[in-house]
Order: sequence, then structure tokens, then C-alpha cells
Amino acid sequence: MISIDLANDVEIAKELQDYLKSKGIDSHLEAAEIKIDKTAFDLKIFKSFLKYTKRTKHSVKKINPKLFLISISVGVEDLGMGTCEICGLVDFEEQLFSHRWTHGI
Ligand SMILES: [Zn+2]
Repeated sequence: MISIDLANDVEIAKELQDYLKSKGIDSHLEAAEIKIDKTAFDLKIFKSFLKYTKRTKHSVKKINPKLFLISISVGVEDLGMGTCEICGLVDFEEQLFSHRWTHGI
């Protein structure tokens, strides 16, 4: 199973489930998280969903091989936060600095 976290946005989660259904993909909705079978997972579907619903500020981010996050990506840097280039972890810059060491950078 692959989980797609909609960052607590229940509205978009429901829309995404309907969209997946229209593409013939079964999914399971739990609050603002959608679970779909690994074999049905295709990143392109989520990108086209955002395009289709005109959510230009949203982006799909890979958190780990089993978890993807769809959220508004602008503003992260404004909050003094950043993203780990290796695993995509979003955290405060100071935390990321020491976190990157765990990857051996
Ligand atoms: Zn990392």
C-alpha cells in the first residue's frame, strides 16, 4: 500500500478519491489520507489531478517509498524551513543541518 497524505485537507482528499475512481483506481480514504495499491500507483496521476483541479500551488512530494505528501509547497522556506535533498524531509534549517549528517553529507 502507498499512502498519500493530503496535509489535513479533507476536501482535496475527497476530490482526489473521486478523481482516482474516474480513472478506475480503487483507493481507501482515511481522514485526509488516501491509500492505494502499490501496483496502481503512478505519480503522473497525482500531477495531472493537481493540473485538472487547477491547484497550481500544490505539489507532490515523496517522503519515503510508501508515503507521498500533496500540499501547498510555497512558504516552507519563508518559515525558516527547508527540505532534505536526499530523503525529502521537511524541517527547520538548524535541524536539517544535523539531519543531513545522517546521510553522510
Ligand atoms: Zn534526509
